[in-house]
Amino acid sequence: MDVAFLGTGIMGSRMAANLARAGHGVVVWNRTPEKAAPLAEFGCKLASSPRMAVRGAQVVFTMVADPVALRQVALGTQGFLDELPHGTLWVDHSTVDPATSRQMGANAVNRGLRFVDIPVSGSSAAAAAAKLIFFAGGELSDIEGVRPLLEAMGCRIVHAGPIGAGSSLKLVNNLFLAQAQVAWSETLGLASRIGLTEEIVHEAILPTHVAPAFLTFKREKIENREWSPEFPLKHALKDVRLALEMAVGVGLELSQARVAESVYTRAARHGLGDQDISAVHEIASRGHLTAETGAVEESAFRG
Ligand code: NAP
Repeated sequence: MDVAFLGTGIMGSRMAANLARAGHGVVVWNRTPEKAAPLAEFGCKLASSPRMAVRGAQVVFTMVADPVALRQVALGTQGFLDELPHGTLWVDHSTVDPATSRQMGANAVNRGLRFVDIPVSGSSAAAAAAKLIFFAGGELSDIEGVRPLLEAMGCRIVHAGPIGAGSSLKLVNNLFLAQAQVAWSETLGLASRIGLTEEIVHEAILPTHVAPAFLTFKREKIENREWSPEFPLKHALKDVRLALEMAVGVGLELSQARVAESVYTRAARHGLGDQDISAVHEIASRGHLTAETGAVEESAFRG
């Protein structure tokens, strides 16, 4: 099948490569062209704009950072949406809020196009190994129509409901993930203060049901203080904020999520935004949260 893939960052580059490996004709575009260029090795063609990329594509994939990026790629001056013939399917893999997915869906449907929001679960290793899990929102027939393409990039598809439901499921997933990462770093911070080594805590707790499985993948990073990005911290912060907005929209105030937001904000302010989510350890493992405000005190980072 001929497809376009827009956004070849950490995730998109690996996903586009897998589509090409599976024999599909893939045209790629990225705002920073240097990040798309290596995909030529896999047989991908490089395009100079979103509009150019989608010409002749039967399916268009987007995998960009956030709602602002998605709107620019779809509806900006070089946006691709007006370029597509009736009936073309747009698959958005970006992690955005459900309201944005519904807006994009409406923009597509008004132009006679089809839209599904299918954010992904799994990080750079899962993307490289075609082991992603897809959280899908939209018409089942549209999702089934792209099953062979999704199976070139991942291993499981969960149909969550209508357009927007994939994004809803992804944000609740990431809200838990982001909070768990902070909770784990606080736990490790306390453990080391009372004389337990990180190694002992990891060995003892990670294999039990207490620890979410993803923490095992972060063990090496934490033990080596090696923060090269698999899932950039700035995107975790974006997801916590989107989830909090979503919660406020339905009348919920999530106190623990607010604390997590403050810890990630602080990490980003200390220059850790482009590092892996696990770099929040630098803040959370030393953090002193005041019971009243949830604020992390300045002295915490200075140690
Ligand atoms: P990334 O490496 O930071 O890639 C972000 C992509 O968005 C890049 O292609 C970037 O282009 C593009 N972009 C950002 N702002 C843009 C704008 N204004 N206009 C056009 N393009 C723009 O991040 P990633 O890890 O691949 O994540 C992509 C999406 O997947 C995010 O929504 C993230 O939350 C989600 N996600 C990530 C993971 C993970 O583990 N990494 C897992 C699941 C979901 P440039 O290269 O020009 O900056």
